[in-house]
Amino acid sequence: MKAIVALGANLDQPQSALELAIALLREATDVIALSSFYITKPVGGPVQPDYVNAVAIIESDLPALELLHLLQGIEKSMGRIRVEKWGPRVIDLDLISYGSILSQAEELTLPHPRAHERRFVLEPWLEIDPEAHLLTHGLVSEILQQLPPAK
Ligand code: AMP
Repeated sequence: MKAIVALGANLDQPQSALELAIALLREATDVIALSSFYITKPVGGPVQPDYVNAVAIIESDLPALELLHLLQGIEKSMGRIRVEKWGPRVIDLDLISYGSILSQAEELTLPHPRAHERRFVLEPWLEIDPEAHLLTHGLVSEILQQLPPAK
């Protein structure tokens, strides 16, 4: 099944952090597409450095929770410390969607509950899949047109 994974980093050479996370992802799954890296302004939270964001499309046979745990394992191995919600982070990996799975569970909500409002997810995703759509909100190209412009 195809999964959409969003990556973000804003501490300790964020570009290298993203490259390492992608290398680890390639070891564990089949990465079939990777967007360019986008430099974005932090949304909410404390004053913090800009982010580097990217989106990968991967192919996996893992059950959804196992895939989430795999992503969390990469975060952990790269020393992400959860100090502050919305705060700076070495690496953040979010599962945006997985096949046609719909889930409202707190541990794993699919599609990701905030994906539709995040340019830093939607823009890189559209770059690698012009037909991209979110099960809950429709075509990514159309969602992007409704979002306020980036600051
Ligand atoms: P964050 O700190 O923003 O990365 O949030 C991580 C928490 O969100 C973890 O406790 C996950 O279990 C939960 N979560 C729920 N849905 C998702 C999702 N689609 N992708 C990643 N984490 C999720």
